[in-house]
Amino acid sequence: MIKANNPALSSWISVPSNSDFPIQNIPFGIFQTSEKTARMATIIGDTVIDLAVLAQAGYFKDLNFDTKVFEQSYINDFMALGKSVTRAVRDRISDLFEKNNTELPGNSALLADLLQPFGSVQMLLPVQIGDYTDFYSSREHATNVGTMFRDPDNALLPNWLHLPVGYHGRASSIVVSGTDIHRPKGQQKPVDAPPVYGPCKLLDFELEMAFVIGQQTSMGETISTEAAEDYIFGITLFNDWSARDIQKWEYIPLGPFLAKNFASTIAPWIVTLDAVEPFRTDGYDQDPEVLPYLKYEGRRNYDIKLQVAIQPENGVEKVVCDSNFKHMYWTMTQQLAHHTVNGCNVNVGDMCASGTISGPTPDSYGSMLEISWRGTKPVDMPDGSQRKFIQDGDTVVMRGWGESKGVRIGFGACSGKILPTT
Ligand code: MN
Repeated sequence: MIKANNPALSSWISVPSNSDFPIQNIPFGIFQTSEKTARMATIIGDTVIDLAVLAQAGYFKDLNFDTKVFEQSYINDFMALGKSVTRAVRDRISDLFEKNNTELPGNSALLADLLQPFGSVQMLLPVQIGDYTDFYSSREHATNVGTMFRDPDNALLPNWLHLPVGYHGRASSIVVSGTDIHRPKGQQKPVDAPPVYGPCKLLDFELEMAFVIGQQTSMGETISTEAAEDYIFGITLFNDWSARDIQKWEYIPLGPFLAKNFASTIAPWIVTLDAVEPFRTDGYDQDPEVLPYLKYEGRRNYDIKLQVAIQPENGVEKVVCDSNFKHMYWTMTQQLAHHTVNGCNVNVGDMCASGTISGPTPDSYGSMLEISWRGTKPVDMPDGSQRKFIQDGDTVVMRGWGESKGVRIGFGACSGKILPTT
């Protein structure tokens, strides 16, 4: 077992019972305050821990790495140190905040600078994202979309069961939770009229998870399914905002473009792959058999509950989706093996999102396109209004957590509010 994952551990920092951040999590992110420039942090309960302060006080000295990485405004340089170092750091933080450790609680001068209430800090984008790829790896999602837009009897296109379908997205517009998003404008095609330009009328979310690359490869190199997890530093929640009307008109023949690249939102914390180790679960039986480079051993899916809520302006939120990261036909290891099988290189900070994660039942569908079945089944909101898609003033909140042996590991909210078009 990974030392910091021990379910018996508890911290001298108080942790609310439903917190995403017990001492067993120790995710990594970037924050700033009015007094502090952007720097690296972790979180226990509702308390943000300033890793730059912890490093300056000498608590990582014996681990023999350049602790200036904690003063950077992205976690990239930290990830690039490799898992031997980042694991040691996570274990050290676990030791220092474990309830029997008196080193820090006795250092009151340091504590005021070290610990910040979550509500008093501004979380920033944790990763400098070089390249971003979006997959399409939930069989239920692909089947639902294929059923709606093509033929229910041939919902999956011929390639779908043979390779993890994906496209290269845009990194520049990936933002951290809490960032407002303006409704995109674009070209749409009414059924019996020429194309028009205007605000998107069918704005949607896509419930996804994303993994972050922590080790680079060179051009020509490939990553096997077996080695893939060595290259994945951690995961986070990902909302792939989607303009369905723009998408429908533009996507043929080269796939998604302006319907997707106006914004995507991620949660503020990157949870290490180590921290979600307890939630490993079996993947799908893959039939037809996949090519040898896509075969994998072991449990490579993760049982992580995922939820989406819509909160109208000044209103009460409604949970519209309960899904799970385990509803992935193609695993992250297969996605990364496929991504590099042609020799495509990856860099530290690259992000790969899963594609919309839909489960088998309508309450587990991961987009409004599916939940409202193209607008034919509106969702009733607590205030009496209805939603087929996302309206101005709505906040979409995604949450995710795994639970094992009384320990809940989560990501913090991945939230974004839609403002009127500019
Ligand atoms: Mn997507």
